[in-house]
Amino acid sequence: MTSVSNRFVCCVCVLTMLVSKSRKYIEQWLQNTSTMKERSTKELRRDRQASIEGKLRALGYDNDDLDTQFDPKDWKWNQLIQQTRPITDRVWENIRPQLEEIIKLRRKHAGAKFLAIRRNIRQQELGRRFVDYLPQVRKLPFGKFYMRGDLLEEPFVKELLDENDAKIPFDDKRWHRIFDRVPEFVAKHIKVIEGHCADVISKAFKESKEMDRPLNAIDDEQHLELLEDPIEDMDRIPSCLLSATSLFKYGGHRLEDYTEILHIRPLARRRIWSTRDDGWSTDKTDVVSSGGVVSMASFLLKQLGLPEDTSMSYMLACGTDFRCLTCSRASQTWSMTWAELVDHFVKANDGYKNDLETIKDRELDVPFLNDHDVTSEITGNLVARVPRTTVDLIPTLEYANRYSILSKTWGEEVSFEICSQSVKDSSDGETQEDSNERTETLIGSNYCPLCRKLGLWHREEIVRGMRKHTRTRHGTDLEGNSLTEQSGVGQDATQRLDA
Ligand SMILES: [Zn+2]
Ligand SMILES: [Zn+2]
Ligand SMILES: [Zn+2]
Repeated sequence: MTSVSNRFVCCVCVLTMLVSKSRKYIEQWLQNTSTMKERSTKELRRDRQASIEGKLRALGYDNDDLDTQFDPKDWKWNQLIQQTRPITDRVWENIRPQLEEIIKLRRKHAGAKFLAIRRNIRQQELGRRFVDYLPQVRKLPFGKFYMRGDLLEEPFVKELLDENDAKIPFDDKRWHRIFDRVPEFVAKHIKVIEGHCADVISKAFKESKEMDRPLNAIDDEQHLELLEDPIEDMDRIPSCLLSATSLFKYGGHRLEDYTEILHIRPLARRRIWSTRDDGWSTDKTDVVSSGGVVSMASFLLKQLGLPEDTSMSYMLACGTDFRCLTCSRASQTWSMTWAELVDHFVKANDGYKNDLETIKDRELDVPFLNDHDVTSEITGNLVARVPRTTVDLIPTLEYANRYSILSKTWGEEVSFEICSQSVKDSSDGETQEDSNERTETLIGSNYCPLCRKLGLWHREEIVRGMRKHTRTRHGTDLEGNSLTEQSGVGQDATQRLDA
C-alpha cells in the first residue's frame, strides 16, 4: 500500500511540478501566437492596401490620387483600406465605387494643394540647376543683374514648369531648353528693371513740378531722349536714371541711386529680411521715389552751387564730403554722402512740419523756425562740401553710364572714410562773442528749454552750439528773447547776424 500510496503521491508531485514548469512555456506560447496574430494582421492589411493600390493604379490613378494627407477626418478611405479581409473580386467590386468617389472628391478638394507642392519641387530643381550655372551667368554682359527668382518668373520657364501639371522633373534635356535661352532672358531683363525705375523717377519728377522747386529746375522730357543705335541703346543707362536728383527708396530704408539698386539686389545682405529669393515682380514694389525727394535734391544742388543737371556719378565721386551746416554749426557734426544729405533734409523738414502741428494742436508758446528750410532765399547756405582737389570731374558729365562699365567696376566695393575735415563756412554767422566761447561748455542743462516745452530733447554740448540752435530754430538768443523784436526790422534780423 505504502508503495502504491507513495507512487500516487509521487505522481501528484510530478504532475504539479510538470504543470508549474510548463506554465512558463504555455505563457510564452500564448504570447507568441498573439504577436504572430498581430503580425499577420499587419501583413494582411498591408497586402490588402497593396492590392487595392495596384488595382487603382491599373485604372490610371496616380500617387496624388492615393495620398490621404489633405483628407478631412470623416472620409472613409482608411476604413475601406485597412482591413484584414483579402481582396476578392467580389470585395473589390464592392469597394471600388466608394474609393473612386473619394478620389473624385480628393481631386477637387486637394488638387490645387498637390499642384502647389509639385510646382515647388520643380522650382527647387530649377533653382539648383541655375545656381550651378551661376558663374557662367555672371560672365554674361548683363548677368550680374539677373537672379534665380527672375528666371522662375520668365513666361517660357513657367510654361515649361507647368507642363503636364508640373509632373515632369527637370532632367538635363529639359534644363537645356531653358539654359539655351538664359543669355536672351538676361539681356532683356535689365531693360525691364530700367523701365520700371525710369517710370518711378519720371512720376516723381512730375510730382515735384507741382511742388516748390528752384527756378532753374529742368524738365524731365529732356531726360527721356533715346539713341538711334539699338546696340548702344541696350548698354546705355538712360540719363533720367543718372541725374543727381534721381534717388530712390529701396526697401523703405535709406535713399539709393539707380546703380546701387542694381548692385545690392542680388547681394545676400538684402536677402536677410526677405526669406525667399524673390523675382523682380516682387522686388520692384520696393523701388519708390517721390516729388519731395526730387525737389529736395534740386534745392540742395542749388545750395551747393552745382548745376541742376549734375550727374549722380559726380555726386558719388564726392563720397562723404557733404555736411549739413545747421547741424555742424551746432555741437553735432558728421559728414554724409549725397544720398544721406538729401535724406537728412527730407527727414528734418518732415520733422519740422510734425513739430509745428504739435505746437498748433497744443497751442504752445514756442517760437519755432525751420532751420533746414532750403526753399528760403534768405537763410544763407545750409549745406557745404569739403573742397578737394582730387575731385576733378565735370559735374554735368555722366561717367559710368554704360551697364558694361558698371558691372566691370563691381566686385571692389568702394568705401569712403568718414570725413573729419572741417568745412569753412563763410555764412557761419559767428559774432566775435561767439568765437570767444568756441569751446565753452554749457552750465546746467544741455537741453534746449524751448524744445523741452514741445517734448523734444535737443542737446548741445557747448554754449556756441546752443546759441546757434536757439537762433536758427527759435529766432531767439540764449535767454529766449526774440531776435526779430530786438532789431525791429522783421524777419531779416537773423540774416543780419549771418551776414
Ligand atoms: Zn554698392
Ligand atoms: Zn541738419
Ligand atoms: Zn530748441
